Amino acid sequence: MKCPVCNYSEIKEGTKKCPECGADLEAFQTIEKIKKCKKKGNLFLIILAVLSAIFLVACILIYVSFNNKVKIAEDKTLQANTEINKLTTQIDQKNSEISTLNEKISEIQAKVIETEKIENKVHIVGENETLSIIAKKYFGNEDMYPKLACDNDLIDPDFILTGQKIYIYYK
Ligand SMILES: [Zn+2]
Repeated sequence: MKCPVCNYSEIKEGTKKCPECGADLEAFQTIEKIKKCKKKGNLFLIILAVLSAIFLVACILIYVSFNNKVKIAEDKTLQANTEINKLTTQIDQKNSEISTLNEKISEIQAKVIETEKIENKVHIVGENETLSIIAKKYFGNEDMYPKLACDNDLIDPDFILTGQKIYIYYK
C-alpha cells in the first residue's frame, strides 16, 4: 500500500496513519471505498441501459414484424377482393350473354313454329271423312274446304277416297 500524500510505499495493510508524513490513511481508504461503490453503481446503470436498449430494439422488431404481417394480410385481402370483382364482372357478362342467347332461342322457336305452319302437311283421308271435316281439323273452319279442293286440284270436292292424300297448305 502507498501513501497518497507522500507516495511512501512500505506501509502495511490496515495502518491508520502514514509513518512518513502522518496523513490520515483511514480517511483515504474510506474515500476509495466510496469511489468503488460509485463505480459499481455506474456499472449497474450501464447494464440497465444496455438491457433497456435491447428490450427497446426487441419491441421495435416485434412491432415491425407484426406490421408487416398485417400489411401482407391486407394486401392478400385486397387481391382477393380484386379477383372477386373480376369474377363478378365475368359472371355478369356471361349472364348477359345467356340472356341474349335465350332471346335468340325464343326467336328461332317462333320461326320454327311459323315455318311449321307454312310447311305443307299431308293428310291421309280416313273412312267417312269429307273435305269439310279435314278443313275444320286443319283450319278450324269447315267452310275452308274449297281451298283444300283447289290446292289439291280436286274437280269434285265431294268425291274423295279413303287413303287418298290431301295436301294442306297454310299459305
Ligand atoms: Zn505519507
